[in-house]
Amino acid sequence: MTELRTLNRPGGLIVVLSGPSGVGKDTLLQHFLNTTPGCVRLVTCTTRPPRPDERDGVDYQFVSVEEFRRMQEAGELLESAEVFGHHYGSPRKFVEEKTAKGLDVILRIDVQGGVSVRKAAPGAVLVFLAPPSFEELERRLRGRNTETDASIARRLAEARREMEAASEYDYLIVHDSTERAAEDLRAVLRAEHLRIVRAS
Ligand code: 5GP
Repeated sequence: MTELRTLNRPGGLIVVLSGPSGVGKDTLLQHFLNTTPGCVRLVTCTTRPPRPDERDGVDYQFVSVEEFRRMQEAGELLESAEVFGHHYGSPRKFVEEKTAKGLDVILRIDVQGGVSVRKAAPGAVLVFLAPPSFEELERRLRGRNTETDASIARRLAEARREMEAASEYDYLIVHDSTERAAEDLRAVLRAEHLRIVRAS
């Protein structure tokens, strides 16, 4: 009998997790990674200055605009985008090395990035994390205490734009309870590992 498992995709998955700022992507991811073996998060790079609680190499790889351009030109980024006036990009090497080892790599990036990843890696799984409501999103953004009123207004406008792009994604998870959202994400990954991959 043929080895039926060969019908499944070999290696790990590239999983994009997007959603408006304030939706709680980091909270969900932290909980998810702590409770799910076989998954790692990609530390992306940015030209944005670090916030007071952020650490280089943990939250982001903080780079200069010159270094970012060099990485882009050398083809070291799987995708890159400009968000709120700063550059962001996903280092390709980490993604390739980890998925080759069978680990699922989670990219916490914006919707432009998600769409670019799908072009570069058609097997990528795109997951959109939505707030229970816009009122709740505003409440969470204000609760952060790191944003000015103008910045909150800009992030809310951006959130509405991002929500419209959700239709390009494969899955939508509502971040109501973190535990339930993590369970939903595990279900998505489990199903994707069982998917039969057809030659196109
Ligand atoms: P923040 O500056 O608030 O950490 O992130 C702003 C936005 O940039 C978020 O939506 C975040 O998911 C997104 N982002 C972070 N890293 C990347 C990346 O490497 N590529 C893209 N396209 N977006 C990113």
